[in-house]
Amino acid sequence: MNQTFFYNDFPTSYNFPRLNELFGAQAQLDIENIPDNMNDFVKQSHQLYLNKAKICVKYAFYTLEEICNEKIIFSYNNSENKNSVLFADRQENHNMIDCSYPLSLNGTLLPKIFKDCHSIMLYVLTVCNYDKIYEMCDDDIMLSFFADAWGSAYAECADSYFIEKLAEEFHQKQVYVTNSHNPGQHLFPLENQKIIFELLQPDNIGLTLTDSCLMMPSKSISGIIGLSNIPQDISKVSCDYCNLRDTCPTAYIQTKNNKL
Ligand code: SF4
Repeated sequence: MNQTFFYNDFPTSYNFPRLNELFGAQAQLDIENIPDNMNDFVKQSHQLYLNKAKICVKYAFYTLEEICNEKIIFSYNNSENKNSVLFADRQENHNMIDCSYPLSLNGTLLPKIFKDCHSIMLYVLTVCNYDKIYEMCDDDIMLSFFADAWGSAYAECADSYFIEKLAEEFHQKQVYVTNSHNPGQHLFPLENQKIIFELLQPDNIGLTLTDSCLMMPSKSISGIIGLSNIPQDISKVSCDYCNLRDTCPTAYIQTKNNKL
């Protein structure tokens, strides 16, 4: 039996909505009023991405089999694999991977988030060549700082753009997606990265996982999205499902697993 992987590549010259805004937030800079002594560093660091980087996404679909207490269980393959080719740049079929982990993801909120879903999509996204770009900054503190901020901004806005496009694609088929949920967020342990990486095998897009479950390059995002026949509120984040949100001091300020 085959497993199908889907890919999207985005050039860094792509007109991502909110790229500059997210860069400004990461660099703590008013992007409309960049001080003269920083302007060249901002432009140079951005040019490195335009010359050297691209954003790569790899994803695959799985059938949701069972929702347990603090765990969801899934299986290989489902009809989404045949249907979801509109937005993908390309797809590849491989023999089913002999995964050494049970096909399940653990997390307190997962049963609530995916309770109306029939399938899930696992995905990884990376800013290819980020490490090389960072090395090219050659210990220049300002250039490295802004290069880091551009990397975070690219990963975050590409992630949002990818999910929005996917949601549009599925909406045409009366399939509705949840927001993305990322290992390392509160109540979704980072160890879930292991199964995502073992299933997706993203080394062919330059992405690997360390023994401590950190992604290399660091400007990368991994996640899970649910697919349902019932309309989903894509703006809902983990805290919206959490019983602790009224008293939790970090409610709604947790960001992606990767601490981009
Ligand atoms: S409300 Fe607090 S504990 Fe609950 S998911 Fe959000 S940050 Fe985590």
